[in-house]
Amino acid sequence: MTKTPVTVAHGDGIGPEIMGATLQILEAAGAALDIETIEIGEKVYLRGNTAGIDPSSWESLLRTKVFLKAPITTPQGGGFKSLNVTTRKTLGQYANVRPCVSYHPFIDTKHPNMDVVIVRENEEDLYAGIEYQISPETMSCIKLISRPGSEKIVRYAFEYARRHNRKKVTVFMKDNIMKMTDGLFHKVFDEIAVQYPDIQKEAWIVDIGAAKMADTPEAFDVIVMPNLYGDILSDVAAQIAGSVGLAGSANIGDKCAMFEAIHGSAPRRAGQNLANPSGLLMGAILMLVHINQPETAERVHNAWLRTIEDGIHTYDIFTEGVSTQKVGTKEFACAVVARLGQKPNRLKPVAYAKTPPAQPAAPAAVSAAGPGKMELKGIDLFVYWPSRNANELAEAMGKLASDGLKLQMIDNRGVKVWPAGMAETFCTDSFRCRFLSERGTEMGKLIALMQRVSNAGLDIVMTETLRTFDGQQGYTLAQGQ
Ligand code: NAD
Repeated sequence: MTKTPVTVAHGDGIGPEIMGATLQILEAAGAALDIETIEIGEKVYLRGNTAGIDPSSWESLLRTKVFLKAPITTPQGGGFKSLNVTTRKTLGQYANVRPCVSYHPFIDTKHPNMDVVIVRENEEDLYAGIEYQISPETMSCIKLISRPGSEKIVRYAFEYARRHNRKKVTVFMKDNIMKMTDGLFHKVFDEIAVQYPDIQKEAWIVDIGAAKMADTPEAFDVIVMPNLYGDILSDVAAQIAGSVGLAGSANIGDKCAMFEAIHGSAPRRAGQNLANPSGLLMGAILMLVHINQPETAERVHNAWLRTIEDGIHTYDIFTEGVSTQKVGTKEFACAVVARLGQKPNRLKPVAYAKTPPAQPAAPAAVSAAGPGKMELKGIDLFVYWPSRNANELAEAMGKLASDGLKLQMIDNRGVKVWPAGMAETFCTDSFRCRFLSERGTEMGKLIALMQRVSNAGLDIVMTETLRTFDGQQGYTLAQGQ
């Protein structure tokens, strides 16, 4: 068989150990891979490359278009940007597919019949990572949800369901609060769902949906979500299935795909031969299917199921009375290798279709509508106002309105404080002042307004223009407005 070029990164923390185990199993199973090894993550950051990846590594990824990646460490709080997110987005990998399956009675779980696939949007949402400090007291993170981004992921979820003979696609979102961003995601879901009459559809607000998923995951099949909810809930799903160390993930784009475990680099477990390599191995199995080596995927997956069934378990899934042997990463890999060619007796063996995998659906637009009519109506000026007195701010700002623009309201963190604010409302040091013109306005008039505000000694810390799109208001009201 011709070898498929694949780029491999051994990662940080437990990464090198679980990648070593995974590659050992793939090699023993006869996977036809031509491996190019690259270095990414901590070592590269520490050499002073703030991107965490060298140009030669990008070249390898663009050449092979298939990436098997062990987890890497991303600093929390400050420090370097997440290379995982950068890689997924730079390579256009819009769909993150995370199957979470329970293996009752061999791995302890409260959910013996769980088989949920989480399809996580991978390029947008708060993961755009566009953040600002807008005042001494306040940080801001911009949540971006686009129509093409939503269309691509929702269509992918329905196509995935159809290809894998799944019966239902559920959407999780929070459009009772985020009416425009999550509202768009939900709207696009409804538009696309009608094109798949053979598949059931349902929608849950993410909080109660998550509670239901954690309680009765067997009620779900495929769940599609914006990026952040998908990140959080796929960890929850994997953990309640048995262990976060069990689930693999495929990041799929039109040109390039990346396969990994859903968990991170677990630095506390590193270098001790403790980690469960199963999540990365599941990612590698998804890769083998993607590169059209289904027989090898099947051999590896069935040998793994047999190992689990024989009770040979790493610490995270070891249960007294159920497991027969507690093993380390290396011993677990050897146990899987020893079972290549075997199938499980009680767990259902897997069978992968021998035809090439269908390509992800082309991201066809649902609405062929053009850009429509955009009309400028006004501006929100966020102003630093440490005295926190909204009435005084209104007096100062109101005087500066002209050219048909009127100060319509002032809010603090989204709740209206002028006119008719309440003394009980807690205010921070920055306020949003909304100037609107009924007839519409021009950018020059908004710039002139900003100039007057600045000349009056007020500090504008952030701005957002206010527009209508085909007559529809492109901004929300403040709470209490
Ligand atoms: P984590 O997933 O690395 O580990 C959390 C805990 O889960 C571990 O302490 C361990 O008890 C358990 N665990 C995880 N994987 C396991 C395995 N294979 N076998 C056995 N037990 C396992 O989460 P974290 O501690 O929040 O993150 C550590 C680092 O990983 C951070 O820097 C984070 O940014 C990074 N991270 C990377 C990726 C990725 O590379 N795709 C994903 C998530 C987190």
